Amino acid sequence: MTAKIIDGKSVAAQIRMELKAEVEELKRGGICPGIAVIMVGDDPASQMYVKMKEKAAQEIGLHSVLRLMPVGTTQEQLLQVIGEMNRDSNIHGFMVQLPLPEPLREKEVIEAIHPDKDVDCFHPYNVGRLLIGEAGVKPCTPLGCLTLLDRYGLEIEGKKAVVVGRSNIVGKPVATMLLHRNATVTICHSRTKDLATELRQADIVVAAVGQPQFITGEMVKPGAVVIDVGINRLPNGKVVGDVDLASASQVAAWITPVPGGVGPMTIAMLMKNTVEAAKNQCKG
Ligand code: NDP
Repeated sequence: MTAKIIDGKSVAAQIRMELKAEVEELKRGGICPGIAVIMVGDDPASQMYVKMKEKAAQEIGLHSVLRLMPVGTTQEQLLQVIGEMNRDSNIHGFMVQLPLPEPLREKEVIEAIHPDKDVDCFHPYNVGRLLIGEAGVKPCTPLGCLTLLDRYGLEIEGKKAVVVGRSNIVGKPVATMLLHRNATVTICHSRTKDLATELRQADIVVAAVGQPQFITGEMVKPGAVVIDVGINRLPNGKVVGDVDLASASQVAAWITPVPGGVGPMTIAMLMKNTVEAAKNQCKG
């Protein structure tokens, strides 16, 4: 079998086009959705992500603010800027680019963001709502994974899903969202005894491990759908996922490539969350 490609790049482009039209419509009604990204320090990977977010925001017509803060910014200075964003009625959603340089305290920073403007869905209030299945913001990368399944018409209900990874930003929320969609979900992690046996039962695999080409074709059930969240740079500079695309695509029915799979969806979902936040904050 040669797997069909789940083309995240083109789905993300389609979603950005839909959002652009929606933003134009909102603007005609007097609402201009606004996003802000706060970045502390000069980490090159973070700079690249921030630029991509700014470009996407501008492309769909959002009011976009980039707040760059130097290395050495204190916790108090960062919390003050978060407070300003919380109060700014032109900003409907904002995020602080992670990881933060030491000694900044990430947990306190996340909790300072008003939950209505928390378009990353990292605030414990929103995480709790997600867990109990309340409507509201969903975290961008997990939402990107489920949106890919939906846009390709790949069924979730009743399927056995195995999520590899249990981080707060990917593994746990994606497992929760699959559960709410009536998949039977197993979460695997570094202490899982026999990962290959777990994986071979999966109709849907979500790989969020952070290990290059870690999941190989022999761990994949024939006909499975494989969603690869991983972004890993090899010593030769090539970017690969957590799944070995060459061998896994011989066995799976559908697979996301890296790059061009989940990655572009994450940013598209950030834009979507911002537009939704603007609609919620401006209604009534
Ligand atoms: P974390 O490092 O926070 O979590 C990795 C998870 O994988 C942990 O739960 C860990 O288990 C588990 N793990 C590590 N080694 C093994 C192993 N040998 N066997 C089984 N499980 C293992 O990573 P993230 O969740 O933040 O990110 C995962 C990947 O996704 C990374 O490559 C990251 O770059 C990428 N990513 C991509 C995004 C996108 O937009 N496409 C967004 C966010 C992340 P344990 O808990 O036991 O330590």
